[in-house]
Amino acid sequence: MQKLDRCPADPEATAEAYLLDSLPRNEARAFEEHYITCPRCAAIMRQTAEYVVAVKRAARRLRDSGKQFRFG
Ligand SMILES: [Zn+2]
Repeated sequence: MQKLDRCPADPEATAEAYLLDSLPRNEARAFEEHYITCPRCAAIMRQTAEYVVAVKRAARRLRDSGKQFRFG
């Protein structure tokens, strides 16, 4: 299995894609193995997780308020 020895080129984007389940499975596994041993990526993961939770919460609030939430 491939393993990341270094941080991804764009750790924020990688963390976000990982948390939104939009990374290919092998990349998700590689990033998982990496961030648990990388303080920088672990911190980014924590921040991004909070952000993703906040976005999902906001989207749910909008949906519950009866408004249509559309992109574009
Ligand atoms: Zn890293």
